[in-house]
Amino acid sequence: MIPVTKAFFPPIDNYHHQTRRIWKNQWLTNRGELVKELEKNLEQYLDLESIVLTTNGTLPIQIALKVLAQGGEVITTPFSYVATTSAIVWENCKPVFVDIHPKYLTIDENRIEEAITEKTTAILATHVFGNPCNVEAIERIAQKHGLKVIYDGAHAFGVFYNGKSLLGYGDVSTCSFHATKLFHTGEGGAIISKNKELAHKLFYSHNFGHNGPTDFYGVGINAKMSELQAAMGLCVLPFMEKILESRKKTVGVYNNNLDFNQLSKLEIRPGTKWNFSYYPIIFRNEEVLEATLEALNLKDIFPRRYFFPSLDTLNYVESDPMSVSREIAKNVLCLPLFYNIEENKVKEICEIINYTNLNFK
Ligand SMILES: *Cc1c(COP(=O)(O)O)cnc(C)c1O
Repeated sequence: MIPVTKAFFPPIDNYHHQTRRIWKNQWLTNRGELVKELEKNLEQYLDLESIVLTTNGTLPIQIALKVLAQGGEVITTPFSYVATTSAIVWENCKPVFVDIHPKYLTIDENRIEEAITEKTTAILATHVFGNPCNVEAIERIAQKHGLKVIYDGAHAFGVFYNGKSLLGYGDVSTCSFHATKLFHTGEGGAIISKNKELAHKLFYSHNFGHNGPTDFYGVGINAKMSELQAAMGLCVLPFMEKILESRKKTVGVYNNNLDFNQLSKLEIRPGTKWNFSYYPIIFRNEEVLEATLEALNLKDIFPRRYFFPSLDTLNYVESDPMSVSREIAKNVLCLPLFYNIEENKVKEICEIINYTNLNFK
């Protein structure tokens, strides 16, 4: 069976080595030695000043919204994983959708200003599939209107844009280290901010608001990463070069073998050093997508409809129809992409897709 993605498993001996440190320290959570070490290693790997590790990639979005959006209207993308929108609603803010760019699939910066009202407090945009939003334009709009910028960087691990770590943009960026993500800690995530004062607030917010054992800076929640999660991260991080190399090769095979007269692929924004995190293809209509999916499933190959449905159609939001996002969501499929997927399998996937598309109706 070929799934859309497969978690990377480091050698078990490496994990034993890390867990032995935990047993020796007799320390399981509350910012132990391994969490701090992983934070340092990630700061270095990602070229960021400061990272706070969290227990997943959703809580950092919620914390950023709690601190920065404060119940206001949040301008956001309809084309992302559901967590981007559900976090807004969960934090009692109102999502205001702005449609996406048809090629880059990120929020269309040219439509943001018309969505701003006096209740707007923040912009929450996703670097979907690791493709950067137009961060410069978004920064200018935010400055002009006094808005905060939060990036859902769940797919942005290791991406550099104009020579800078993509996770360093915005007032806050978040990341996810879920098992299915490029770099993972089983479950996990991170919150990143360059602003010292804001970083302090985000930090105490992720640990119940604590200022020492008996005093509190303010309200907080528990979003701490545990030592067991950090142990996995410390084992996976040294393999990143190998993981990226393998994925790059697979992306090359897809690029060289798929028939792009029948389909289109994601266009990466110029100036981007991309991370090969996903391989989305866009079909000409939903019927041919369904036929292709069926043909692949028959061969035990299971791509996924990422991201479907368009988030402006969720039953707990109100929105004008986001027509570009709805069209893309209907027609997009993410192809299998993971460490050491067999080249022959990838070629077989391309053949099935090409054949189905060429012969459909
Ligand atoms: C995975 C993902 C999240 C959520 O991260 P978790 O670690 O699973 O909580 C949020 N946003 C996007 C775009 C994601 O893909």
